[in-house]
Amino acid sequence: MGGCHSYPSASEADDSALQPRDASPDKLGINNNMVEERLYLRPQYVSQRITGANVHALAATPPGVDQAEWLASNTVAFFKHINLLSSALSEFCTPSTCPTACGPGNTVYTWTDEQGRKLKCSAPLYSDYSMSYIQELLTDEEVFPTKAGSSFPNGFRFLVQKVFLLLFRSLAHVYWSHYQETLVLGLQPHLNTLLSHLHAFTQLHGLLEPEDTQPMQALLSALGQGPMREL
Ligand SMILES: [Zn+2]
Repeated sequence: MGGCHSYPSASEADDSALQPRDASPDKLGINNNMVEERLYLRPQYVSQRITGANVHALAATPPGVDQAEWLASNTVAFFKHINLLSSALSEFCTPSTCPTACGPGNTVYTWTDEQGRKLKCSAPLYSDYSMSYIQELLTDEEVFPTKAGSSFPNGFRFLVQKVFLLLFRSLAHVYWSHYQETLVLGLQPHLNTLLSHLHAFTQLHGLLEPEDTQPMQALLSALGQGPMREL
């Protein structure tokens, strides 16, 4: 797949930090993002969920359950759900429709490879890198042990934080670049539910920094304040 090249400037933000919006959408080749009013902020869409369940209650560690085990099982579950949802929209996310991996506010995401090189990618390639990276982590017995008596590694929380940042960015890209297709497919209640649950989970367990979620703040506020409606 094309659309990826080395990032020449060492001063650019790395993968762990969001980039400033210092380039015009035209320059970046970002698609259909100049609409002043974001569709996903409209009250009739914001209010849609697949369940009226309290996401804060769902996010809390159940009594008697090990904290690391709870983080691990939810990491796997969120990955499966978000990977599935992204797959449903993947035919609309191509190097030509999305030459830049981006999210709300035209935030541009860059990938840091194993050699530390910063890569500016198309959105589908960034997504491929993200999902492959997460899949590899989740199947690494050293990181996500499944055998009884195994313990989680010292850097476990850091890796979980990285996974949730990538998952959050995946949802952010869908809202920013593929919301019309989301509406056509009728996926907006699922998308809102996933984002609300993921945000509640990451806030409760300290997995995302405020600067990570800031580009999505208008929507997160709207989701938190809007009436829950079960379909
Ligand atoms: Zn896309």
